[in-house]
Amino acid sequence: MKILIVGAGIGGCTLAAFLKDTKLEFDIVDRSADWSQHGYSLGLWNNGRSILKKLGIENILDTHGVPIHTYFIRDGKGKLLKKFNLHDFYIRYGIAYMNISRDLLHETLLARSGTHVKMNCSIVSLKQIVDAAGAKDYKVIVTFSDGTTGEYDLVVGADGVHSKVRELAFDMHAIEHYDNQRIWYTWLDKKYTEHATITDYVGAGEFMSAFDCGSRALLVMVAPVEHTIWDDESSRIDKLKKALAHQTLITSGALDALSGKDVSPTNLEHIRMKKWVKGNVVLLGDAAHAFEPHAGLGGSMAMEDGYVLAAELMKVSDSYSLSDALARYELVRKSRVTLARKLTNRMRCWTLIKSKLLRKIVNIAIPYIPESFFVAGYYRLLDEDL
Ligand SMILES: Cc1cc2nc3c(=O)[nH]c(=O)nc-3n(C[C@H](O)[C@H](O)[C@H](O)COP(=O)(O)OP(=O)(O)OC[C@H]3O[C@@H](n4cnc5c(N)ncnc54)[C@H](O)[C@@H]3O)c2cc1C
Repeated sequence: MKILIVGAGIGGCTLAAFLKDTKLEFDIVDRSADWSQHGYSLGLWNNGRSILKKLGIENILDTHGVPIHTYFIRDGKGKLLKKFNLHDFYIRYGIAYMNISRDLLHETLLARSGTHVKMNCSIVSLKQIVDAAGAKDYKVIVTFSDGTTGEYDLVVGADGVHSKVRELAFDMHAIEHYDNQRIWYTWLDKKYTEHATITDYVGAGEFMSAFDCGSRALLVMVAPVEHTIWDDESSRIDKLKKALAHQTLITSGALDALSGKDVSPTNLEHIRMKKWVKGNVVLLGDAAHAFEPHAGLGGSMAMEDGYVLAAELMKVSDSYSLSDALARYELVRKSRVTLARKLTNRMRCWTLIKSKLLRKIVNIAIPYIPESFFVAGYYRLLDEDL
């Protein structure tokens, strides 16, 4: 079987790493010219670590990850609303949530895949052909952006939230849902976060998270915008100061030291699809099911997809067809992604509130939210076998 993986991000590299020592042949392409734009950090729970462990590279997380022990919710001025101790996660799973440099994680997965990625390369067309024997035996003819073509038994769209494979094979633009909220990331001095913590700062139409990433802090800022109007670098900091006027942690100093290019924007959006498989084309990771980052699960879900898809592809035989393998992948993964999405919605319910009155009411209620409201969904997800 010859496979094309489009997108060498977190999910694509995981799939490639699991396929490496099999008889399955694969090519992998990525649209980026290099990996310099992939920065910042990624948080992993134990399910992400388990995938790394299956690849024998969990050491990278254990050695370089920053373990988080406490999660705070504060108002914009810093007043504590709720403190969650993650201690029980350490007892139950050995780790709770670990922040790791996204570049390092990606580099490690890429090296483990031992593969050469064809960079600066996307696909421009994709045609599924049926052979004379019947409709089941597809081939996929792909034209690449450099004008070359290739013939594959399977094309995997691991090309992220704005997937080209999805656009070409599924022809469904309408499944990209925007919240009209934008996220801006930036590195800050370590003094803006406490050791081994994540802190959410909540205000009406304003939200920030500060992550301890070891030698520095990652700040994630969220505010409402019209998603079709893009940020202009020169006015970005002034606009952010206005949009986050009540977040005194940053407005009183941190943002003044930054310029627009130090801050990277991305729209909050999610992808919902009934099917992830069309003939011999399959989607994984954000291309199939991107959701908001509030539960810190998108990266590990993409890695899990890579693992499950590789396992299914290895089972293909005379009595277990490729379409059986793809159907099983979709079935298994969809139910788990539904669980992760529910958890994400639960974690975001106190964050993106625009109304001042509702914000006040929720802030009064937050201290009384039982810890189980937050913990139970994670236990369900992390206890489930893959
Ligand atoms: C603000 C924010 C914070 C997050 N925090 C966390 C977190 O703490 N924990 C967590 O687990 N997840 C987090 N996530 C989610 C996580 O980053 C993604 O879910 C994860 O990277 C998805 O992996 P992927 O392989 O599907 O896509 P990606 O890692 O985005 O990889 C897609 C790859 O495809 C390439 N590509 C794109 N288009 C094409 C094309 N047309 N042709 C060829 N190649 C193409 C890209 O260059 C890229 O290399 C966060 C996301 C956001 C937005």
